[in-house]
Amino acid sequence: MVEVKTAVRKLKNYINGEWVESKTTQYEDVYNPATKEIIARVPLSIKEDIEYATEVAKEAFEKWSKVPVSRRARILFNYHQLLQANKDELARLITIENGKNLSEALGEVGRGIENVEFAAGAPTLMMGDSLATIATDIEAANYRYPIGVVGGITPFNFPMMVPCWMFPMAIAVGNSFILKPSERTPLLAEKLVELFAEAGLPKGVLNIVHGAHDVVNGILDHPDIKAISFVGSQPVGEYVYKRGSENLKRIQALTGAKNHSIVLNDADIEDATSNIIASAFGSAGERCMACAVVTVEEDVADEFIAKLSEKAVDVKIGNGLDDGIFLGPVIREENRKRTLNYIEKGIEEGAKLVCDGRENAPENGYFVGPTIFDGVTTDMTIWKDEIFAPVLSIIRVKNLKEAIETANRSEFANGACIYTSNASAIRYFRENIDAGMLGINLGVPAPMAFFPFSGWKSSFYGTVHANGKDSVEFYTRKKVVTARYVEPTFE
Ligand code: NAD
Repeated sequence: MVEVKTAVRKLKNYINGEWVESKTTQYEDVYNPATKEIIARVPLSIKEDIEYATEVAKEAFEKWSKVPVSRRARILFNYHQLLQANKDELARLITIENGKNLSEALGEVGRGIENVEFAAGAPTLMMGDSLATIATDIEAANYRYPIGVVGGITPFNFPMMVPCWMFPMAIAVGNSFILKPSERTPLLAEKLVELFAEAGLPKGVLNIVHGAHDVVNGILDHPDIKAISFVGSQPVGEYVYKRGSENLKRIQALTGAKNHSIVLNDADIEDATSNIIASAFGSAGERCMACAVVTVEEDVADEFIAKLSEKAVDVKIGNGLDDGIFLGPVIREENRKRTLNYIEKGIEEGAKLVCDGRENAPENGYFVGPTIFDGVTTDMTIWKDEIFAPVLSIIRVKNLKEAIETANRSEFANGACIYTSNASAIRYFRENIDAGMLGINLGVPAPMAFFPFSGWKSSFYGTVHANGKDSVEFYTRKKVVTARYVEPTFE
């Protein structure tokens, strides 16, 4: 059983299988966003810390990459069992540091475990291709190899799932890994590494260096870190992609979003409104797959908005550890203030506030209630920016074509959903929408671990996505062997 420690304490880095104090003198407070209580202090590590971690990870790579993949996979199976056995404690910790409700946190743990499950298939996933007779007496085959030390930089909104998009597969295929968790949700990562060590992972293969931009820059610039997976906001992702690429590293950066849902006049409005409430306001809107905009056909718009508002009013706000709570806090006071500024801006720009999240939001944490704007247009800031909070914009449109043209104007293209019972409309949507992850009559079309997490446009920088077979591709390199065998001679 993993012990959940929530008393204020100074966190340490995890390097070479040990908890080591950072060389920094600077620490940042970590809050429980539902209570404003300080639950830990996270070190803002410096260059020396990342240098030490890289040296250790580089040395560990030499041995780990030579361990047969089937043996590596067995450690992943052990890890899977330990994560399952500890899932309630892991979920509780996510709720404490992130604020999402316990059932969402359990869902996140499940999603993380799914990645470990997928990575345990490394022996099959690492198989190459071969051709016995590519030319006369000549055959060719390719073999996959790990690439070395990999860095992972993660956001606050999924402290378990997003790191699990990265290190289980990277490690299963033979790399060593340095994780820099979000400085706003650094606690869960401690449990992830402790359980992996208990599962039998050798020292130095998985390391944590806590901190903020200095650690990120350290990872981006270190010549011995060969590949970097980043998940976070668009400006930081673009920066990571450019600087990392300039340093000749392999980079994948999954970034921001402004996901549109299209509601057509033949949709099941009851079902669509329930799904959209869950998608727009679940996890306080702090999901890269959250629904941020609804484009609804005008002949059902009044009915849709009335039903949606009714359901939004019923949403229970509070500490996600408490029974029946749906909507927890946003992550920090600055995020709450930023959200309130967007609400002001929406009003100022002429959108109609039909559900005001400023009313009745508890004040003992960083809460904002469900907020809905009608009459939004694509020149408004609330349509353009990723607000990343429980704020939903509604645009009334004439038809599906206009709905898709509206969505495609966004700089982001992570996910998009459609609610309809018309198969032709679904096909038209699939073929014409600019987004990498589509939902048909469902709210959060986040692909399971076995498929790539495939944002487009400014929602992704790189070539090969996270998860699915893309992750095997990203964390491996190939050798193609071409061989000639002369015909044997027989007596
Ligand atoms: P963020 O960009 O603030 O932070 C992400 C990581 O980058 C953190 O580890 C942070 O320490 C680091 N960082 C922040 N500022 C930096 C800087 N100036 N220089 C170098 N490093 C820096 O993101 P966040 O607020 O933690 O997470 C929310 C964002 O993540 C949203 O935009 C959301 O859409 C996005 N996100 C995207 C996906 C996806 O799959 N596309 C998934 C989850 C979250």
